[in-house]
Amino acid sequence: MPDAPTPSVPEGSVPEGSVPAHAVVVGAGVTGLLAARRLAQAGARVTVLEAGDRIGGQVRTVDFAGRRCELGAEAVHLASPAVTALVRELGLEDSMIRSNPGATWLATRKGLRRLPQGVGPTGPTQLMPVVRSGIVSAPGLARAALEPLVARRHRVEGDMSVGRFVRERFGDEIADSFVDPMLGGLHSGDIDQLSLQAASPMLAAVARDGRSLTLSVRTRKAGPSVAPSMFATWPQGLSALTDHLLDGVDVDVRLASPVTSLRRTEQGSYAATTASGEDHHADAVVLAVNAAVAARVLADASPDAAAPLARVRSASLASVLVALPAAEAGRCRPIADGTGIMIPSRLGLRLKAATFLSAKWPQLSGGDTTLVRLSAGRDGSTIVDDHTDPELIELLLADLRELTGLDAQPVETRLHRWLDTAPQLVVGHQQRLATARAALARDLPGVVVAGASHDGAGISGCVTSALQAVTTLTERPLR
Ligand SMILES: Cc1cc2nc3c(=O)[nH]c(=O)nc-3n(C[C@H](O)[C@H](O)[C@H](O)COP(=O)(O)OP(=O)(O)OC[C@H]3O[C@@H](n4cnc5c(N)ncnc54)[C@H](O)[C@@H]3O)c2cc1C
Repeated sequence: MPDAPTPSVPEGSVPEGSVPAHAVVVGAGVTGLLAARRLAQAGARVTVLEAGDRIGGQVRTVDFAGRRCELGAEAVHLASPAVTALVRELGLEDSMIRSNPGATWLATRKGLRRLPQGVGPTGPTQLMPVVRSGIVSAPGLARAALEPLVARRHRVEGDMSVGRFVRERFGDEIADSFVDPMLGGLHSGDIDQLSLQAASPMLAAVARDGRSLTLSVRTRKAGPSVAPSMFATWPQGLSALTDHLLDGVDVDVRLASPVTSLRRTEQGSYAATTASGEDHHADAVVLAVNAAVAARVLADASPDAAAPLARVRSASLASVLVALPAAEAGRCRPIADGTGIMIPSRLGLRLKAATFLSAKWPQLSGGDTTLVRLSAGRDGSTIVDDHTDPELIELLLADLRELTGLDAQPVETRLHRWLDTAPQLVVGHQQRLATARAALARDLPGVVVAGASHDGAGISGCVTSALQAVTTLTERPLR
């Protein structure tokens, strides 16, 4: 892997003031690695304890069919200023590869249709493309067109489900046809349970103000922000980000070191105990692990923090990389002429989404094979647990064939299971987290939780969460 330029430390990214002498970070995903970086830059001695045999967590690039492909996260979303600043700091800006512009397919009962312009994960911001798409029935369109009128008397205080909000604003058809496959697919969850505040802060702001989604200039701009050109990776894969997060800092990373418990010592510091029984003493601890793990680690030292965290459940997912003979894939129009398929859950397929990697990413195009990634797994579904690898691959391929008419055997496949990984930020999530954090601040000041299952799935959410965790520990805002 080529070396990135030596990272510079941007002003304002390092905390001043009360820096812990020794910090332990539990978990070496994006969140833990960035928290470790900032703490080390501030002058703390940092130890990272990671359960697995590698760093990166849900960022995992592998060699597949002669290319660098992702089993986990595929891209960073460049809409977040914190992400772009970090990419610049790591010297990774110039080598970044943006995804190709291209059309996404939406599965409907009538077959595949182009996803209309102006439809984002939270619903349409322009109605005409939806009208022209033919996806929504005439009564469904008539109901959706009422949105600006409904908005005037539709102000939401507190939390509610994304599904309820969209159903009340636009009607059921818009919720089930667009928001379920897009936002529900993104979170591998049920839109009628996902929290408006936690899973869609942009929509929560609109809900509070009673603004119309179809009339609001701000949301109209926000709609296409999920356009492919805002997504980026690197020639060596997304692992470039996690591989370089510890560049230029002195951090002690211990692999194969699962933390099982945490306690406060008589001296007021903390001891993180690993499965081998080894204690790691620290003045501050960042638990950058999923909420269920954090709950287990905190069970004895802060039962009041552990209880709400234990209620944050996660869905299991599977990713299947598929290499198809390029000539045969090229004859399949949906694969040749789109970047992927989103699939509403009401269609009852096992496949949740398909990404046509060779069309989406310039570095994955060309050659003898066309690469596709198939995804499965949602909250409440047991598909990932119920089948052997060959069965699961065949089931997902069968759905892909049915949707696209593909008539080809893969030349190579690779399946990866992400067990209990996709956090379900359901209604009341932020309140539960606030309760857990208040209990932590009382019982274990100097211990913080951070990461996807606390502050929002996705790398940009993890970046913000890691920075917030370090800010809390050092009592200084930073970026
Ligand atoms: C299939 C898939 C596709 C995705 N696609 C995207 C995408 O395209 N863009 C995007 O922004 N996001 C995407 N995401 C989400 C994104 O990858 C995650 O939100 C993010 O990587 C989570 O980072 P994290 O550091 O919070 O947690 P993790 O990456 O889960 O890291 C936690 C780490 O803690 C370790 N650990 C667990 N228990 C212990 C313990 N007891 N002691 C010590 N260590 C422990 C784990 O081994 C792991 O390394 C995707 C996720 C998946 C699974």
